[in-house]
Amino acid sequence: PGAGKGTQAALIKEAYNIKHISTGDMFRKAISEKTPTGIEAKSYIDQGKLVPDSVTNKLVRERLSEKDCENGFLLDGYPRNLAQAEELDKILKDLGIKLDAVINVSVDDNFLIERITGRRTCTKCGASYHISFNKPKVEGICDDCKTPLISRVDDTKESYETRYNVYMTETKPVIEYYKNLGKLIEIDGSKSPEETLKVIENILGVNNG
Ligand code: AMP
Repeated sequence: PGAGKGTQAALIKEAYNIKHISTGDMFRKAISEKTPTGIEAKSYIDQGKLVPDSVTNKLVRERLSEKDCENGFLLDGYPRNLAQAEELDKILKDLGIKLDAVINVSVDDNFLIERITGRRTCTKCGASYHISFNKPKVEGICDDCKTPLISRVDDTKESYETRYNVYMTETKPVIEYYKNLGKLIEIDGSKSPEETLKVIENILGVNNG
């Protein structure tokens, strides 16, 4: 949480012109639309816990089966535990899709709280800003869709602590899983969004086609 995966995902989406599939954004949309998935997910998200795999995996399988994912996509925030990583293997196998790369954006723990509590998010398009490090052009307004920015319900110090613990116990083992498969790319996320993007682009060869 707070490493900048959503910010990088949004930038990579532009560079590759591919779909950006963020489970966090999908849940937030479902919550605002009060769908059954949103209603179920809300209490977990507000507390900083993972939404149960049964709900999350179904959502991802359905989304990746849609036609606009045929030419590639970037998953953001999924898989978040080993069971989800195994389920993703099954989903990709069923859809005949090859996983190209897994990017782990890491940042020193000390920076994360500041990033999380200073984050401002667009409720419409999900774009993420920061009150000091990544300011919108007009304070409190999304650059792209001009919607007012908010501080997410789970971007508090208390929820951050739970999210961090969930990360350490449930998500961290996923790094080893993809390292063993030879898919893992490690990125230092402590630089500016633009600098971090350049490193990712160079590694993925986005400028070389
Ligand atoms: P994010 O926007 O990626 O920081 O996700 C926000 C919250 O949504 C997380 O703290 C979880 O509560 C929930 N969430 C997002 N992705 C997943 C996932 N893959 N599995 C379970 N819960 C998730």
